[in-house]
Amino acid sequence: MSFAPGILAGKAAIVTGGATGIGSYIVRKLGSLGARVAIVSRKEANLKSAVAAFKANDGIDVLWRVGDVRVPDLMQEVIEELANEMGGLDILVCNAAGNFICPTEDLSPNGWRTVIDIDLNGTFNCCQAALPYLKEASAGGRIISISATAANYGWPGAAHAGAAKSGIQNLMKSLAVEWGVYGIRANWISPGPIAGTEGVDRLIIAQGRAQEALDSIPLGTFGEGDDIANAVVYLASALGKYVSGTELTVDGGSQWQRR
Ligand code: NAP
Repeated sequence: MSFAPGILAGKAAIVTGGATGIGSYIVRKLGSLGARVAIVSRKEANLKSAVAAFKANDGIDVLWRVGDVRVPDLMQEVIEELANEMGGLDILVCNAAGNFICPTEDLSPNGWRTVIDIDLNGTFNCCQAALPYLKEASAGGRIISISATAANYGWPGAAHAGAAKSGIQNLMKSLAVEWGVYGIRANWISPGPIAGTEGVDRLIIAQGRAQEALDSIPLGTFGEGDDIANAVVYLASALGKYVSGTELTVDGGSQWQRR
């Protein structure tokens, strides 16, 4: 089951962290529905092998640039280059993130700063760099940030990521209000645990918490990458044109599970 073929034809998208995990599902979905897509992250080897796989397995040509979302000048340069190469920019997906498990009493200032810098400051840097191009998007620019349901609660062992993701959510609300005048829609998706990703492998399974996590999901399974990618398509396409400043939770109902 899928969206109408070509629903994103003529659109140009940048996905940060698009070489791996959830980001790679988003890239595949956007590309297969007709969008031109570019990915940005730090590791050239990851970018190159992902681009080769997108081409070989899905027949999609994906542009790529090495870039660290923490560096505002670099993101200005990279987004400008990619937008010029694609003939504009309609969709920005802020997916890049870092996280690790550490009790807050042991968390170093550097650990705290690093996650805030990648997740929250990185999202701000990309949004600001993309603004001139999103303003020109013919059907209204779309900003879609990937948050996490955990940010709506306390997140023991990941206070750094919880604070960063909560900040992203509020940033999206502010941009929806400030940039609505430019026709830009700013929203965020909050995934629950998605199978086969770093978020589940390293932060849940490697911590010995797989069964506990599954027990907290009313639908009884981890999500799939395509569950998040489909939510992105909804928000990025004409179907989501009146949605701005809000959360789309994709978590199998776990946010309402009594713990
Ligand atoms: P992932 O595979 O580790 O994806 C993170 C991506 O971000 C990587 O491709 C990484 O590429 C990139 N990145 C990290 N630091 C960067 C930086 N400074 N500049 C540019 N790119 C950077 O993890 P994932 O699990 O798929 O997570 C994707 C998103 O979903 C994240 O926002 C995460 O918080 C969110 N999320 C995931 C889950 C889940 O179950 N997986 C649940 C809730 C929310 P490089 O190493 O090449 O830079």
